[in-house]
Amino acid sequence: MSETAAAHGTPEPFPQAARAALADTQLRHNLSHATHAIRVKRAAAVAEVPDWEALREAGRALKERVLRHLDDYLVALEESVQRAGGVVHWARDAEECNRIVGDIALAHGADEVVKAKSLTTEETGLNEALEARGIRAWETDLAQLIIQLSDDAPSHILVPAIHKNREQIRALFARELPDAPPDLSDDPRELAEAARLHLRKLFLGARVGISGVNFAVADTGTVSVVESEGNGRMCTTLPEVLISVMGIEKVIPTWEDLEVYLQLLPRSSTAERMNPYTSLWTGVSAGDGPREFHLVLLDNGRTNVLADEIGRQALNCIRCSACLNVCPVYERTGGHAYGSTYPGPIGAILTPMLSGMTEAGSLPYASSLCGACYEVCPVKINIPEVLVHLRQEEVAQAPGVRERLAPEHVAMRAMARVFANRRLYEAAQRAGRLSQWPLVRDGAIRRLPGPLSGWTSARDLPAVPPQSFRDWWRERS
Ligand code: SF4
Repeated sequence: MSETAAAHGTPEPFPQAARAALADTQLRHNLSHATHAIRVKRAAAVAEVPDWEALREAGRALKERVLRHLDDYLVALEESVQRAGGVVHWARDAEECNRIVGDIALAHGADEVVKAKSLTTEETGLNEALEARGIRAWETDLAQLIIQLSDDAPSHILVPAIHKNREQIRALFARELPDAPPDLSDDPRELAEAARLHLRKLFLGARVGISGVNFAVADTGTVSVVESEGNGRMCTTLPEVLISVMGIEKVIPTWEDLEVYLQLLPRSSTAERMNPYTSLWTGVSAGDGPREFHLVLLDNGRTNVLADEIGRQALNCIRCSACLNVCPVYERTGGHAYGSTYPGPIGAILTPMLSGMTEAGSLPYASSLCGACYEVCPVKINIPEVLVHLRQEEVAQAPGVRERLAPEHVAMRAMARVFANRRLYEAAQRAGRLSQWPLVRDGAIRRLPGPLSGWTSARDLPAVPPQSFRDWWRERS
């Protein structure tokens, strides 16, 4: 079991977890409201940019080049960071990453650290690993703080507490924050102020800060974190020691390449023209910011993803979350059902490739293959293509799958013959029209009998119409 799975408990397969999520009407209401609002705002922000498609193509092409020469760019990044006074660590997996971070914190006598929002450290289960060594990690992003205080798991890449509403957060703060006013209301400004008072003390007392990385420039060794609240900047500037953990795919070649991603990311994620806070730092500078800077380069399965020629495009992801907000499956089930740090369409492809089909083999099926995710992705990741590719892999790998699917294989072969032959197809239409009458209600079949019932357990089947288009055409020609 991976450390991540150990940290969060082994997840249920998606179909079971989704069923429970679908029964939660409050969750569905919260999600539908939030994703709809973000979708509308994103579409407007993107429409303002006349060369959006050219930007997307540039973002895709740059990432593709990075993946082709990843080894060279990572070595260049290491040299640049060291030249600027930083220390670079290489971590093969989650365990090694967590050990490196814990060792640095303990070497500085820290029993508390402040953290900016970081999916990568969520992936490695860093908080739990630090806690086991006596170090308390405080999340400082507002949504992450909500998740931490409620002992919950994030359900969205960008808005981890998207499944909670204001009243739920008010009750949580009133219970968990010692300085929260007794008459705290669910007004967003009051909630933010209560969190601010709590976090300010932590920022001023912490000796070690931990962040993720959005982009790291190989040429200069510059590391970048983008965010909306300013807590990330506090974490990366106030403590004496800064540790930044990045997946190895976050490297980009040059400073100029940042220009592309700093336009694509904010409009796709928060529907803003630019991120309110874009923090950039290069090693350490005398009299300014942390005295020590450590960059941890994490593999944790990424080189396996790189080896997959179709799947490797998942490493292009800039974690904007646009694909989650348009996904009809995510909108109904929420993020927890995916049982992964990365929910939604990107999680459905990235998680099985990072942690293996045994743990996450059900995720490539968590999609209707409608293609909405591909349309909005700012770096043009063809998620449906990778989903189909992973489904093929799952079928090929599953033990005894040939026997299990034998009736399905026979049915598919028969259907292929029918669809390939006009006479057979028309005969099947006539047979279907005659035999369907006991099942049709209001033009649709809501429940098929026997082994076919799986098809209608989650969807209707349109009835065969009284006249086919071909018959209609023949009548008139
Ligand atoms: S796959 Fe594309 S749309 Fe989804 S989070 Fe990644 S970059 Fe954004």
